[in-house]
Amino acid sequence: MPEAKIIDGKAFAAGLRERVAKEVEKLKSEKGITPGLAVILVGEDPASQVYVRNKGKQTVEAGMNSLEFKMSEDTSQEDLLAKVEELNNNPEVNGILVQLPLPKQIDEQAVLAAINPDKDVDGFHVVNVGRLSTGSKEGLVPCTPLGCTMLLKDHFGGDLSGKKAVVIGRSNIVGKPMFNLLLQESCTVTVAHSRTKDLPEEVSQADIVVAAVGRPEMVKGDWLKDGAVVIDVGINRIEKPEGGTRLVGDVDFESAKERASAITPVPGGVGPMTIACLLANTLTAACQQNGIEAPAL
Ligand code: NAD
Repeated sequence: MPEAKIIDGKAFAAGLRERVAKEVEKLKSEKGITPGLAVILVGEDPASQVYVRNKGKQTVEAGMNSLEFKMSEDTSQEDLLAKVEELNNNPEVNGILVQLPLPKQIDEQAVLAAINPDKDVDGFHVVNVGRLSTGSKEGLVPCTPLGCTMLLKDHFGGDLSGKKAVVIGRSNIVGKPMFNLLLQESCTVTVAHSRTKDLPEEVSQADIVVAAVGRPEMVKGDWLKDGAVVIDVGINRIEKPEGGTRLVGDVDFESAKERASAITPVPGGVGPMTIACLLANTLTAACQQNGIEAPAL
């Protein structure tokens, strides 16, 4: 078996951001509309701060307006809901994202439910979850699984139909929407999780494996069917034997690349797709809110 092709998510994401920027330019010049993305960050979580900064930078680079609202760690739910409502009513804002996790005094579900579903660029509102699971074209789809699907479609030349896929993980953010997206692409999909009886056996049947678990290098190469295509969503920081740390995925990359036909690396695979898809969703939301057909990206 030749070594696996490395699926270059970093390059794909750069191309996607360019396509978004071109469409934004067209929207501005032809319709006078500049899409706007508002991000609310509550508290001082360092990882969230970095992520929000990157989002802001890439939003501006794509030609969109970026609005950032920083609220203190002790913000009340009432105040956060009032901010969401203000942004719901602001016509300059096409996308609203509340950075998770939220401090413990705030009910995450109540906040997600308060976002206007048409501005819910994270795709976590129950209305968008429903739209995705019923195959509605109007919905906004969670960014990370959307990015995984784009990489898979690109790899397979657009057609995933009939493939056997195993998604490992059943979170609302990755696993469940990934299941729905693969089903929409006419895959036969199994969702494995922490209570799955024989995970290696499930994985061994799959043409496509999507790992979204949060356990470093858990999926081993010898679990894979020869020629499987592996999408590794996991981002885990581990200690290096020589000191310091490094990022690894949920898949043991070294053994998996001997067995797979293609695999996403960590970092540089799925990671960069998330913000690129957020920009794509903001563009889609701006088009839909203005009664314009969203461009295919
Ligand atoms: P989560 O903790 O919400 O869900 C993990 C899932 O894994 C659960 O559904 C659980 O049932 C399953 N699981 C746990 N142990 C298991 C086991 N031993 N066998 C099989 N399944 C098991 O996590 P999440 O938010 O879905 O994120 C998963 C991973 O993806 C994390 O590493 C996270 O950092 C990463 N992530 C990356 C991006 C990105 O932009 N690339 C975005 C979101 C999440």
